[in-house]
Amino acid sequence: MSTNNTSFLTNQAACSLFGQISSSEHEQVVYCYDKPTRLKAIIAIHNTSLGPALGGTRIWDYVHEVDALTDVLRLSRGMTYKAALADLKLGGGKAVIIGDAHQIKTKAMLRKYGRFVNTLHGRYITAPDVNTDMHDMEVISQETQHVQSLPSAAGGSDDPSSFTAYGTYLGIKAAVKKVYGSDLLSGRKIGVEGLGKVGFYLATHLCKEGAQVYVTDVVPEKLVTIAQAYRVHIVQPDVLYDLPLDVYAPCALGATLNDININRLQCSIVAGAANNQLEDTRRHGQLLFEKGIVYAPDFLVNAGGLINVHTDMYYTYSPELAYQHIERIYDTCLEVLNRSERACIPPSMVAEQIAQEKIDRADNTSS
Ligand code: NAD
Repeated sequence: MSTNNTSFLTNQAACSLFGQISSSEHEQVVYCYDKPTRLKAIIAIHNTSLGPALGGTRIWDYVHEVDALTDVLRLSRGMTYKAALADLKLGGGKAVIIGDAHQIKTKAMLRKYGRFVNTLHGRYITAPDVNTDMHDMEVISQETQHVQSLPSAAGGSDDPSSFTAYGTYLGIKAAVKKVYGSDLLSGRKIGVEGLGKVGFYLATHLCKEGAQVYVTDVVPEKLVTIAQAYRVHIVQPDVLYDLPLDVYAPCALGATLNDININRLQCSIVAGAANNQLEDTRRHGQLLFEKGIVYAPDFLVNAGGLINVHTDMYYTYSPELAYQHIERIYDTCLEVLNRSERACIPPSMVAEQIAQEKIDRADNTSS
């Protein structure tokens, strides 16, 4: 009984839980629990109109478990739009494993998780994300074939970060073309926040083209390699927002485009790889638009890694083939920015509209 004191979920909590799931129009949300391995995970399948739902598995120590649900619902919805916009035969899904990766990530736990993935019979396909890598995928693959981005030695397409960085680089060039009339980056001031797997490759592309690159990371050691190879400007975290940049490229965590930071921004363009950069998609997309800052939507420009995985799934894989498909990000980005200007609505909304049109067309064809 929900009124019983011992009930673990109140009526109100249950309503908001199911309300959250149905309002975001998810097809299926699965809770996975295994006591011996301390596995607690949520797999969210947002939409499969265009193909099986693909998205990474993130391990994160959420303060409240409901935050895990909010995160997985938001991330899986983003995957639907990312795949549709990139013309992939994939739907949107994502999974979160709740807990501190240093404490809970064991082979036994990952294998148990793999068994849950397998129960979905390919409706959900997993891949690496924050705190999981291709070696973890190899462990998961002992229990299910519905896993991507395995090491090349195990017959996979390896870590997707360099592909993601290349797409982001092209997105930056398209946005620079839109704002300045030429896509040459030489001399442009570009700030890269987060020199992790993607940020490093992105900064390398930018330096090679002669941009003035400003880099920052909360872990200073991450800046050493790029600083040894190129003349970059190293700045403290949190400083990029106040610099007079041409482009701010978030490549660390999401939600850096919020009420506080947007009002500090001195750049003309925001284009980076981080997922979910807009803390509130509608409000902060609109705020950037009103400030005249051109925003290249994250799920558009960071699709390179997903395109690489898609190439491996549906074609005889070669990195060249993946790069050819990734090149299209440039034109799609320009199309989105041009439509945004004509219709006088933020690019993030335009990108969602184009993706939704593709999903609706697939639904109409199949019905
Ligand atoms: P990563 O963990 O390798 O790198 C993130 C870096 O950001 C780390 O070096 C970390 O120290 C740094 N960082 C964290 N907080 C920071 C802060 N406040 N200021 C400055 N630096 C900070 O992750 P990654 O694989 O490079 O991914 C980067 C972003 O791109 C993530 O948001 C990820 O979800 C997104 N993304 C990655 C891929 C991919 O192929 N790896 C694909 C799509 C989207």
